[in-house]
Amino acid sequence: MKFGGTSMAGSERIRRVANIVRRQQAAGHEVAVVVSAMAGETDRLVTFCREANPLYDPAEYDVVVASGEQVTAGLLAMTLQALGCQARSWLGWQLPIHTDDAHAKARIEEMDSGALLASMAAGEIAVIPGFQGLSGDGRITTLGRGGSDTSAVAVAAAIGAERCDIYTDVDGVYTTDPRIVAKARKLKFVTYEEMLELASVGSKVLQTRSVSLAMKEGVRVQVLSSFIDDDATPADEIPGTMIVSDEELEGLDMERQLITGIAADKNEAKIILTRVPDRPGAVATIFGPLAAASINVDMIIQNVGRDKGETDVTFTVPSADLLRAQTLLEAQKAAIGFNRIITDAKVAKVSVVGVGMKSHAGVAATMFRSLADRGINIQAISTSEIKISVLIDEDETELAVRVLHSAYELDAVD
Ligand code: ADP
Ligand code: ASP
Ligand code: MG
Repeated sequence: MKFGGTSMAGSERIRRVANIVRRQQAAGHEVAVVVSAMAGETDRLVTFCREANPLYDPAEYDVVVASGEQVTAGLLAMTLQALGCQARSWLGWQLPIHTDDAHAKARIEEMDSGALLASMAAGEIAVIPGFQGLSGDGRITTLGRGGSDTSAVAVAAAIGAERCDIYTDVDGVYTTDPRIVAKARKLKFVTYEEMLELASVGSKVLQTRSVSLAMKEGVRVQVLSSFIDDDATPADEIPGTMIVSDEELEGLDMERQLITGIAADKNEAKIILTRVPDRPGAVATIFGPLAAASINVDMIIQNVGRDKGETDVTFTVPSADLLRAQTLLEAQKAAIGFNRIITDAKVAKVSVVGVGMKSHAGVAATMFRSLADRGINIQAISTSEIKISVLIDEDETELAVRVLHSAYELDAVD
């Protein structure tokens, strides 16, 4: 069981979580619990790091930000004990959860489960702080924002759990963020493939890496709410959303929508390099240095060559990396041979995702037409087998998501 930040925010909510956990144990399950820091706490700690040193050492950043989860793990263990349960905390370094040494975005390499399994078999509820791990050289690492989801899936895989229940502040995965579109519908099932794509284009309900890990390790993941009262009427016969394989979904024989979900991401920034020489190797000189600096480039457009063998190249990078990318490119100006660099951080990427588009024509046309009808200009496009993304003005994000949600007939009927 994993509980997110909102579920852990304060003594009252932690007591509520403890009761949910206790009920599972009483139903005969052995339980391991992964917790997030209290809502807002990680942001607060990140601010302290920035204030201490804008060019902070990521290893020390991890020491600071990992502390939020240590607090909630201890508090939940205590609260469970107050309810008469046996419980203890297991910090990342105690288990340990081994990661690589990419501080602030570490990857889990392996996890020892012996101690955990022994404790659980003895009737103890194991409480594990999410987000944190231990590098090869013995230092604390963190897994990137939202990383407690990944901790939970890793723990579930290591102990061979029957299921990994991710408790959050919404009762499942919706067709789009229910906080933006009131007409969003809860999905009973979503495939790993679609969830992976949705998470990677901005549905922060699950960290992307947690979905790829669950897919790889075959962990059964369910997303559900920790805020539903016992006597509340469930939305349908499934308490949350189950992440299932493609074959499993086929077996459920459900009527499949063309589009499963829509996501938006405002953390993208656009860079245009004008008048880049149109010759072999030109784009390599642009993207080589960015790759070396671990800056992820997402959408790329290279226009057809203009006169004098020149072309404009447009691409996007995470907003947080915009300044670094710009500085790197300016430094390479002579080598790349561009004329001007134009940047825009006020853009957003809106994506539609669905396995249905593999076998249907016209999905992209519907998207472009619906946006055009509302006067929304598309600045860049990228696609995968089950996704179409467009880059638009950030101010039009919510409108675009709503328009597309209706266009693909995803609106809930009341
Ligand atoms: P936690 O602290 O529990 O990890 P997060 O804030 O990370 O919670 O994730 C839950 C939030 O994800 C929801 O409050 C919701 O606003 C947002 N969200 C974005 N897209 C979706 C979606 N498609 N379905 C459900 N929630 C979504
Ligand atoms: N507390 C961390 C964060 O806010 C990890 C998590 O909650 O998943 O990013
Ligand atoms: Mg989260």
